[in-house]
Amino acid sequence: MRILILGGTGEASALARALAGRNDLSVMLSLAGRTAAPKAEPVPTRSGGFGGAEGLAQYLQSEGIDRLIDATHPFAARISANAARAAALAGVPLLAIRRPAWSPEPGDVWTEVASVPAAAAALGAEPRRVFLTVGRQEAGVFAAAPQHAYWARTVEPLGDVLPVPRLTAIEARGPFDADAEAALMRDAGIEIVVSKNSGGAATYGKIAAARVLAIPVIMVRRPDKPDVPCVPDAAGALRWLDAAAHAASTLRDV
Ligand code: NAP
Repeated sequence: MRILILGGTGEASALARALAGRNDLSVMLSLAGRTAAPKAEPVPTRSGGFGGAEGLAQYLQSEGIDRLIDATHPFAARISANAARAAALAGVPLLAIRRPAWSPEPGDVWTEVASVPAAAAALGAEPRRVFLTVGRQEAGVFAAAPQHAYWARTVEPLGDVLPVPRLTAIEARGPFDADAEAALMRDAGIEIVVSKNSGGAATYGKIAAARVLAIPVIMVRRPDKPDVPCVPDAAGALRWLDAAAHAASTLRDV
């Protein structure tokens, strides 16, 4: 059985690790190619776009893919829409890994907004010290609010995407624990955190730290994703693939 995993997340890597070495399956992990030095994976990888839903459908057919797993990030809306359409076009069963969103807990002070530009506007007119964690691709949106001082953390170097007078660029890849996040926020005198509602444990430390320090959070809500069969984690995807592999071998034996 040939499997394509659309990745760029911890769940995709966890599934790749679980499938590596299985000789009943052939696995390809696909990355968008945004990260210059992605971490090593234990299965073959490819990198770069497919050319929209039609390009992905063509890839599924030409590579003889039997199962497609959409394990992309909750904010990667375009590739998930493409995956749903491509799977339908090519007649390939699709499963999405959709990690649960975070919910506010007692002590959390969240302002929920619908988009990253709305988060920039929600910072307000008064200059504030902001811990910005929306990723490099959308950090530039905050150039529209140059009165604030930003501590912007990204995996890839920020470069010149956020041209504001007071900027501290922090290059780091998670996971981040709550104690280290609290220390960072205390040292920088952070007054407000901007975060996507990514869900998962790897980047939750800043949310827990903000709660402890009574720092407000502007939380960007998730974009809509297509309504397809889904599981919350890599273990669920593994069970789905095992069931499919078992059904295929039973059919062969008949
Ligand atoms: P996006 O807006 O949904 O996708 C834009 C285009 O990038 C897609 O149309 C596709 O190009 C290509 N693409 C995206 N993911 C791909 C994959 N896994 N393999 C091959 N091509 C892919 O995606 P994004 O928000 O830019 O995210 C890019 C990648 O970073 C994804 O793999 C995602 O899981 C990861 N990521 C995103 C975020 C975030 O906040 N958005 C955070 C962490 C990780 P074509 O149309 O040409 O096929």
